[in-house]
Amino acid sequence: MQDQPLRFLVVKAHPHDFTHCAGTCGIHAAQGDAITVVSMTNGAGTHNERLHDELLKPAEEQDPAIINQSADDYARIKEEEFRKVCTLFGVTDVRILDFPDKPFHKTQEAVEALRQIIYDVRPHVLITQRPYLSGRHGMASAAHNDHDETAFAILEAQGLAGTPDYGSRQRPHTIAATYYPGVYFMPDEIDFYVDISDWKEQRIQAEILFSSQGHTESFARKRIEIHTGHAGWYAGTGCAEGFVRAAPEVLSRIHVPEFALRRASEPRQNHLKRMVGELE
Ligand SMILES: [Zn+2]
Repeated sequence: MQDQPLRFLVVKAHPHDFTHCAGTCGIHAAQGDAITVVSMTNGAGTHNERLHDELLKPAEEQDPAIINQSADDYARIKEEEFRKVCTLFGVTDVRILDFPDKPFHKTQEAVEALRQIIYDVRPHVLITQRPYLSGRHGMASAAHNDHDETAFAILEAQGLAGTPDYGSRQRPHTIAATYYPGVYFMPDEIDFYVDISDWKEQRIQAEILFSSQGHTESFARKRIEIHTGHAGWYAGTGCAEGFVRAAPEVLSRIHVPEFALRRASEPRQNHLKRMVGELE
């Protein structure tokens, strides 16, 4: 039985990447677990859709307020959005590191910063970018390399945090379990789903809050309906977030989730009602 509160560390490349596991973080924060969210970059170089679209226009039609906005100003707005999003899920320990994105590179400085965060937080659970480049879903574009580089940086930091340095009094730390959000994988690669049906509205609100990325309410609703609904479809519930384990887990006994036991014994109609949110 799991009765000690857990400490979660979430490490992502850009602020918006947190949303892919936000419902799961909300569930754990509400149950008393501690969540620390780290974004390696302030995201100034990514998803400035307004600037992109403004630059498509003829020069005389361009809005100077958008054209002349500095990267720092854009980053400040995004930070504000990010902190509000985290609050929606009960997460108050939010750390935005100042490494440049577009592209972000795994430097020794970045690895060391993450190692210090691991010592500070001493997490039981790490949720982070997937470190696998192979597979059809591997992101090959330069702009999205930030995710891979973040994955390699935290992997190295994780290894170093568990390794003592000569002459140092630093207490090593080993993270017990590492998971990668399912959005970076194909459906048949997912190890397990977390039912986030009760957190769907917060996931939608989070998308709306990232308005600097050009998100509107109708876009947010559509995106979350499809995204978490797609995972939910595979999971057999309304909305879900999928995860892939970094390593197979060793159990003390076989644990059958409550969800599976209930689904096996209840009327099939209940299952359909749950998929559309008519049943808890
Ligand atoms: Zn990203």
